[in-house]
Amino acid sequence: MRLKMAGCSGVLVLPLMLAMAPVVMAQETAAAKAAETAEAESAKVMPEAPAAAPSRVGTWHARVVDGVEYVPLEDIRSFYKLMPMQPKGRKVAGQRMVGNGEVTLCFGPAPRELRIQERLCFLSHPVQEDATGDLLVSRLDVQQVIEPVLRPTYILNRRAVRTVVIDPGHGGHDTGTVTPYVREADVTLSVATRLGSELKKRGYEVRFTQEQNQYQSPQGRVDKANAAPAAIFISLHLNSGRSDMHGAQMYTVAPAGKNEKRLPGHEFSQASMALAMALQSALVEKAETEDGGCRRAHYSPLNSVNCPSVMAELGFATHPAEGTRLNTEEYQLKLAAALADGVDAFARVMNPASNLQVQKAPVVEPPPTPVKVDAPPVKAKTEPRKTQSRKKAQRRRAPARNNKRRNRRR
Ligand SMILES: [Zn+2]
Repeated sequence: MRLKMAGCSGVLVLPLMLAMAPVVMAQETAAAKAAETAEAESAKVMPEAPAAAPSRVGTWHARVVDGVEYVPLEDIRSFYKLMPMQPKGRKVAGQRMVGNGEVTLCFGPAPRELRIQERLCFLSHPVQEDATGDLLVSRLDVQQVIEPVLRPTYILNRRAVRTVVIDPGHGGHDTGTVTPYVREADVTLSVATRLGSELKKRGYEVRFTQEQNQYQSPQGRVDKANAAPAAIFISLHLNSGRSDMHGAQMYTVAPAGKNEKRLPGHEFSQASMALAMALQSALVEKAETEDGGCRRAHYSPLNSVNCPSVMAELGFATHPAEGTRLNTEEYQLKLAAALADGVDAFARVMNPASNLQVQKAPVVEPPPTPVKVDAPPVKAKTEPRKTQSRKKAQRRRAPARNNKRRNRRR
């Protein structure tokens, strides 16, 4: 399905994807066959390509590594108008950062880690480095992780949010994880109820998959979500793991693999990633939880739900301090308020009326001259002095002059 941007004359959604397609088709190298396979595979999670790509989108130098189609970071920089940047603080080996005044992308240090505005996402394919030292990012990850966050107005199947379906992930005989600190079913139901009240106050229609600590089958959860109009689906859970593991994690539907059927959840995978990032950011900033990152998984409700959907792991029931904190009413309220803020942030960019406030389709220009971050020009050191006010400089010189005068008098 192809969408047109409201208020944006005939610009097709995902010009990024459209721009890449002709590049791949034109390849006549030994990798061409593999590229075709990758194309056929990724076509499952993309809208159909148009007859002709818009002329204003630049060339993407796609290449295939281990059967996966990659694009150079240089092309990503050029498309999104980003510059090389120096990561904050201590230099970490394997980290590569690009950005502009509004957004930063930091790849690494692990090959699947990407931080967008310091929020952690896990890529479907590890980044690679080519012979020139440029980073290669899988086309799928550009489309499914970077694109929906950087340009939410281009999200496939973008539509306004009216209903929020909240799924307390366990109930009845299914208690979820039980530890000495907390019971998963109790916390998820409590946060769900509080989140529901908060969202109702903010004008959303709210539905629950269950409200009375009842068991709900996986299909029952999916049916409730799919029956709601213009909805998003948020499934609430607690994580379990080693006793030192803590923090919130957000899961969205994993892209369809080779020879896998395209599922209803894949139609909204870009929107789901944007929703996950909005919720995760709100949890980290407002509930002050550790950022466990946005991840992809083949979980049953996420595959089958016909709307943007996430599974929110609010924290680790197995971590003594976090488990204890999750069990408090105060923290449950904080989590609910943060999640409601995340829903609001997502709903704002999904509303077609917000197009006027969000960026227009970027016109791809030749990449700007790279800035060498390792060796700043000598001039940079002298610059702050230039910005000193004349008075300040005079004040600083004054004692020296006075001493000279004093010396002369002597
Ligand atoms: Zn669970």
